[in-house]
Amino acid sequence: MQIDSNLTLPVTGRLLLAKARVPAELTDPVPGATKDAEGALLLDVLIEGGRVAGLFAMGNAPPVDRVVDLAGRHLWPAFIDMHTHLDCGHAIPRVRPDGTIHGGFSLTTEDWPRWSDEDLALRMDFGLACAHAHGVAAIRSHVDSETLAYSQHHWRALERARTKWAGKVDLQGVTICAMEAWVGDDARALADLAADMGGILGGVTDTLDRGENGTYDALAHALDRLFALAKERGLDVDLHVDQTEDLTAFTIPEIARARLRSGFQGKVVLGHCVNLALMPPKVIEGTLALAREADLAFVSMPTPMMYLMDRKQGRTPRWRGVTAANEIRAAGLPLAIGGDNCRDAWYAYGDHDMLDTLKQAIRIFQADEPLTGALTMASRVPADLIGRPDLGRIGVGLPANLVIFQARSLNVLLSRDQADRIVLNHGRRVTDGLPLHHELEQALGLADPVLS
Ligand SMILES: [Zn+2]
Repeated sequence: MQIDSNLTLPVTGRLLLAKARVPAELTDPVPGATKDAEGALLLDVLIEGGRVAGLFAMGNAPPVDRVVDLAGRHLWPAFIDMHTHLDCGHAIPRVRPDGTIHGGFSLTTEDWPRWSDEDLALRMDFGLACAHAHGVAAIRSHVDSETLAYSQHHWRALERARTKWAGKVDLQGVTICAMEAWVGDDARALADLAADMGGILGGVTDTLDRGENGTYDALAHALDRLFALAKERGLDVDLHVDQTEDLTAFTIPEIARARLRSGFQGKVVLGHCVNLALMPPKVIEGTLALAREADLAFVSMPTPMMYLMDRKQGRTPRWRGVTAANEIRAAGLPLAIGGDNCRDAWYAYGDHDMLDTLKQAIRIFQADEPLTGALTMASRVPADLIGRPDLGRIGVGLPANLVIFQARSLNVLLSRDQADRIVLNHGRRVTDGLPLHHELEQALGLADPVLS
């Protein structure tokens, strides 16, 4: 069933979206608004000049010439995807993932020489176009930064994409490299590069082995350098942490202690942290208490973790592969979700659709019953973590980056794919469809020779 024809929206101007159903956790409070049984408010939303100009309890908006009756459909803020790898993405079929972490790393590095300016632009554009059509307003992408030469090349590609997509899908980069890079000769140049490109700093913390005495001295030193470089430049930090089922590679406490001794005031986000879920309850509790003291935040990538973790040939996985999501949320710590890799050496599938990621997260984490707060993992929480509190919620004065769904209940919204959703970008309807895979393959020289 298509969205009704009366939802043919004007592209600009003053417009009232009447009888919208907005989950209370995704909007500013609206006095007098009725709440439905699933926690959504019934609202009239006034849009003017590309922004939300007013929020009213249903039926209380002032007269407006142009009214679109949403008839109780769900209206959400556009999504935020705060953990992606756009530079790796959409390399299938020239890259054929084997479903393992080792394969992800080795096949990606083997692919690097093919990452010309044009190749990066085509694949990153494709990812951004998917996200835009699905209603994603901002993306943070990790940028492969293993050597300074590769880093400069990859970051320049990101910068071109960032300029091209600004205002549609706002893009922010973060370095991803082994933590050794932050004690190497190029550390300062790499930090300057990220800063010049509007990016932030990160690294993979479980690449540094413990010393002979079982301590994490080398990691602690690298973290100290990273926090010092970030502090000097006023940059936030976003790390890849413990994507392993090895319980002896457990670096969250080291990161927390480094953060506490650094005096670093920026945001610190820890991605993955999957072996936390395998720890004894007392260890989880103690680790999260330390994380709270150190003001750490978390981001989980449920879909690719289900795919990658606990994969053993011929054996069905016993573990969902995700972090201790519900314990993190219960401890009052911010938890966002991200799409992560997409059709590349690390993860074979994906379409940059954060509604799909949210639906997966709710099921994989069992983050429902109650659902309260879970919807913010793909919007409000990541918006705050990437320093964009103007996004990820519906509020007066904020950009009208919105998604209208056909669903009139949350249950239906989370049940059907909502492929016919309508996306508004700064109040304008997004009419670009999803980009086509065979056109990308043609442009990359990967088209099926039988058909071309
Ligand atoms: Zn990642």
